Amino acid sequence: METLILKVDKSSEGYKKLDIAARIIKEGGLVAFPTETVYGLGGDAKNPKSCKKIYKAKGRPSDNPLIVHIAEFRQLEDIVEEVPDTARELADAFWPGPLTMILKKNKVIPKQTTGGLDTVAIRMPNDDIARELILRSECLIAAPSANVSGKPSPTIADHVYNDLSGRIDAVIDGGHAVIGLESTIIDLTSDVPTILRPGAITKEMLERVIGRVEIDSALLIEDEEQKPKAPGMKYKHYAPKADLTIVEGNASKVVVYVNSKVVANKDKGVVTGVIASDENASRYSAEVVKTIGSIEDEEAIAHNLYGILREFDETDVKEIYSESFEGDGIRGAIMNRLLKAAGHKVINADKEAITRIIFAGKNGSSRSPMASYILKSMDASKDYEILSRGILVQFPEPLNPKVEAVLASNGIEVGDFHAVELTDNDINSSTIIFTMEESHKDKIIEKLEKANEENTFVLPTYVGDELEILNPYGGGLQLYGLCFEALKETLNKLVNILNQER
Ligand code: AMP
Ligand code: MG
Repeated sequence: METLILKVDKSSEGYKKLDIAARIIKEGGLVAFPTETVYGLGGDAKNPKSCKKIYKAKGRPSDNPLIVHIAEFRQLEDIVEEVPDTARELADAFWPGPLTMILKKNKVIPKQTTGGLDTVAIRMPNDDIARELILRSECLIAAPSANVSGKPSPTIADHVYNDLSGRIDAVIDGGHAVIGLESTIIDLTSDVPTILRPGAITKEMLERVIGRVEIDSALLIEDEEQKPKAPGMKYKHYAPKADLTIVEGNASKVVVYVNSKVVANKDKGVVTGVIASDENASRYSAEVVKTIGSIEDEEAIAHNLYGILREFDETDVKEIYSESFEGDGIRGAIMNRLLKAAGHKVINADKEAITRIIFAGKNGSSRSPMASYILKSMDASKDYEILSRGILVQFPEPLNPKVEAVLASNGIEVGDFHAVELTDNDINSSTIIFTMEESHKDKIIEKLEKANEENTFVLPTYVGDELEILNPYGGGLQLYGLCFEALKETLNKLVNILNQER
């Protein structure tokens, strides 16, 4: 079968093409069409044969019911046993819109449409093309999302075409689905109305209209045993081919964690991808970085999520790391889909925090060991492994005697010491490197593969000071004493920052 592409703009000329699509539906065929949530794969909801075709085209398990799309409220009354007040109130508030209601069905809707259930899911989409198609077809249109089962739902006609070309009669191309995530599903047949799938209409919005609403507990916890009440929610969903992990926590920690994975993957020849906010995208060193929108802009994030998941399938990325987009409103739905796509794999970058601090200087026998001994003498440093290193160490030099003297006069005793050269072996994902001077930082990043902008810093800059730590070399004891005081003050600030981030 050749799949017809019908490009429809919202003009009377454009709408004429809808008659072709409407006839296909009326005659028992399948047409994918845009809605404000995602693209749907439509067939005549009252025709069992059409519905069977939908399951077949998508490869959808036959116990996963379809949503019936209507264009006018009276069409709801035709297919349910009764219309409860709650349904009227919700329709008033949110239809046409991204809300699907579950009600007791009557005989008009065949069991094939509802996956054998005696309830039916109904929605009135807020997209002119979708409603116009329903009206012109003179049918109710049963439509699940127009993707191959298991893949992210389609948000543009191209996604549909890539998945279903040759398996359906036509695709209406009406541009990008505005919202980009599937509808909220609310079950009105249970004692307390229950959300079976989160979407753009949130629990709070629903409660403002009908009072108490519950959330299907199977959505809240990750538990293989608990069966979600919307059959579709139990299947693997939205999953890209690559392995996806969500990384939550302080933005800088997330960057450090992800970039350490990138470095490790490069060693193994594994290509890494990142789903990043606009704000942080440039900080990732992965081969493929996809920006999803501003952290502040949850609508953009929802809009772009599925397209990005699909784009990764066209790359050779094997591991994807995504920032977390937790929060109110549609963020709940975003995280629900992202968690499913990731198979609930979540890493907390804050817990993967820094455990090794390295001070590095030119030859590693003066300011850098001074910093490491001062920090070790501070109470708050006991959780860290603290090292000092030199960028180029030709001889295992002992500690500079003036440094040793200043430390001793401040009550800090030094045991055996000799300078050690900094190498890649010193650096892992929980290492942070501090230098006293900008030029030292640049040299380290240039010289070592594992050192980068995300784990190597100029100490005073890191704590927010403008000056570099003065170099006492060639000066007297007094100058070394001043250096000690400056370092101590800077390291106090460092300890505060590290503790805050834990
Ligand atoms: P889709 O249109 O692909 O987003 O899938 C429709 C979703 O609605 C699936 O998760 C179904 O399991 C759910 N659904 C449809 N009808 C019912 C129903 N009668 N009871 C519970 N969930 C339903
Ligand atoms: Mg679906």
